Amino acid sequence: MTHDEIREKLAIHLHSARQTIQQACDQVKRDPTSVTMIAVTKTVSAEIAALLPEFGVTHLGESRPQVLWDKAEQISGVHWHMIGHMQRNKLDRTLPLLDLMHSVDSDRLLAAVQAWGAKYQRPVPVLLEVNCSREEAKGGISVEALDELMPMLADMPYVNVRGFMTMAAYHDDPEQCRGTFVELRQLRDHWQETLGREFPELSMGMSNDYAVAVQEGATMVRLGTTLFGEFRG
Ligand SMILES: *Cc1c(COP(=O)(O)O)cnc(C)c1O
Repeated sequence: MTHDEIREKLAIHLHSARQTIQQACDQVKRDPTSVTMIAVTKTVSAEIAALLPEFGVTHLGESRPQVLWDKAEQISGVHWHMIGHMQRNKLDRTLPLLDLMHSVDSDRLLAAVQAWGAKYQRPVPVLLEVNCSREEAKGGISVEALDELMPMLADMPYVNVRGFMTMAAYHDDPEQCRGTFVELRQLRDHWQETLGREFPELSMGMSNDYAVAVQEGATMVRLGTTLFGEFRG
C-alpha cells in the first residue's frame, strides 16, 4: 500500500471510531471531548504511526517498552502511553518518554515508580491496572489486593495515581463486557470516597468493546485493530 492509500483508509477508520465514540456519548449524555482516543500502534510500523497527527490523533499507545523507545525516537509531537507490562529495570529509560503509564500492575512496580520519582524529584502520572475480569491469564492487580495497596499511596508522594485501567475478557457480544467496566467505575468511586481524593481517569475499552466502555464512563479508549487491522504485517 502506498502512503496515500494508507492515509485514505486511516481516515475512514478514524472517522468511524470517532462516530462510535460520539454515539456512545450521546446515548448517556456525555461530552465526547471527555473521551481520549489512544491509538495502539503495536501492530504497525513507525512510518504508519507517524501519519496519525495529520488526522488529529496525538495520543499513541505501545505495549512493549523497546518498541515504544524506537517509535518515540522516530515520531515527534505525540503523547506516549505505556499500556503493557513493564519490568522495573526498564523504568529509567521509559518513564521520561511517557505522558501516562497505564499498566502499574503490582506493588513492587508501584514502589519502583515511587523510587524513580523521588530520585528525579518528578511525580509520575500512572494508572493502576486492575484485573476486573478475574481471568488468570490477564495481568493486573486483583480487586482484593487493592484493599492493602490503596492506603499505601499516602506514603508515595511521587506516584500520581490518575485513575484505573482494565482489560475486559474477549466476548463476541460486547454487552458481556459491561460488568467489567461497571466494576472498574464503582471501584474508582469507592476509592475516591474512601481516600478523599480524585481518580479522574478510567482507561477501558478496546476495539471490540469501546462503545460499551464509553457508555460506562471510560475517559480513555485504547484502539488497535479497528484502526490498523488492515495494515498488519
Ligand atoms: C493491544 C492492546 C489494545 C488494543 O487492542 P485492540 O483489540 O486491537 O483494539 C488495548 N489495550 C492493551 C493493553 C493492549 O495490549
